[in-house]
Amino acid sequence: MSLAADDSATLSGLCRLRHDWTRTEIGALFDLPFPELVFRAQSIHRQYFDPAEVQISTLLSIKTGGCPEDCAYCPQSARYDTGVDAEKLMALDAVLAEARAAKSAGASRFCMGAAWRSPKDRELEHVCEMVEAVKGLGLETCATLGMLTAAQARSLKRAGLDYYNHNLDTSPEFYGEIITTRVYQDRLETLEHVRDAGIHVCCGGIVGMGETRADRIGMIATLAALPVHPESVPINMLVRVAGTPLADHSRLDPFEFVRTIAAARITMPRSVVRLSAGREDMSEETQALCFLAGANSIFYGPKLLTTGNPERDRDRVLMDKLGLSPMQ
Ligand code: SF4
Repeated sequence: MSLAADDSATLSGLCRLRHDWTRTEIGALFDLPFPELVFRAQSIHRQYFDPAEVQISTLLSIKTGGCPEDCAYCPQSARYDTGVDAEKLMALDAVLAEARAAKSAGASRFCMGAAWRSPKDRELEHVCEMVEAVKGLGLETCATLGMLTAAQARSLKRAGLDYYNHNLDTSPEFYGEIITTRVYQDRLETLEHVRDAGIHVCCGGIVGMGETRADRIGMIATLAALPVHPESVPINMLVRVAGTPLADHSRLDPFEFVRTIAAARITMPRSVVRLSAGREDMSEETQALCFLAGANSIFYGPKLLTTGNPERDRDRVLMDKLGLSPMQ
C-alpha cells in the first residue's frame, strides 16, 4: 500500500533533524493510536537504518558496587542492602579476556562501566589503558564512569574512547525523586565535556520508576533538545532490584514502553535507539514491537553490570525468528 500524499509530506517533515520538539508535539505522538505511532516510527527508521540490522554491544562492570550516589534504582549504591559487594577496579588482563570473548560472540562495541560518582585521575589512567587495549582488538569502545571534568573527557578521547554513556535518567522535574546526590545540571555538564572532547554521546533514561507520561515526554524532549542528538539513546525499563527503594514498584505497561521507544525514534531519527535494561523480563513479542518502533541496538550477554540480561542463545533465537542480523 502506498502512502497518501499528505502522509508522505508529514513523514518527510518529521525526518528533518530537529532540536526544537515541544512537549506538546511529543505528547501528541504518545497520544497517537498505537498502530499509527509504530507505523510513523518504522517509516522514519527506514530512512536512516536497515530495519533488519541490530547493533550489538556488550557491557562489563569493571568496578562493581560501593558507589556513594543514591540513585534509587541502582543495586550498586552503597546506601542500599542489595547483596552487591564493593569490588576493586578489574585488572587489565581480565578486562581484555572479556573483550575478546565479547568480540567472538558478535559484539561490535564493548562498554566498560564503573560504579563511581566520578573517577579519580589515577583511576582514569587505568581506564584509559583499558580503552586503548580494547580498541586494539578492533572493537568500538564505550565507558560509563560517572561525572567527568573536561580534562578527563579529553584524556579518554586521547586513549581512543568512541562513546561515553551518561544518562539523563528521567525528566528534569522527576529527577529529584530518584537522585539527590547530584543535580540534573551536573549531568548536562558532563555531556557537554564529552561532546566537546569529540567523543560520541550515549545518553538516555529509565522508564517505569513511578514517573508520569508527562515525565517520559519531558525526558525525550530534553534528549531531543541537546545541541547534537546523542548518537546512541538507551531506553531502559526499570529492573526492580530487591533492596533498592524502587524494588516494589508496579510494572510499567509494555505498550507505554514501546511508545517511549517510538517517540525517541521519531524525534532523534539518526540515533541508534537501544532497547536496554529490562529485556530479561520482557516477552519476545514486546521486544519485537520495540524493534518495529525503531529500536536497533541491544546489549548482548548474560549480565548488565549487576542485573540479569537474556542469555546469548536466547537472543540468537529471537534474532533468527525475527530475521534480524548484527549491524556491521
Ligand atoms: S547509577 Fe551509577 S552513579 Fe548511580 S548509584 Fe549506581 S553506580 Fe552509582
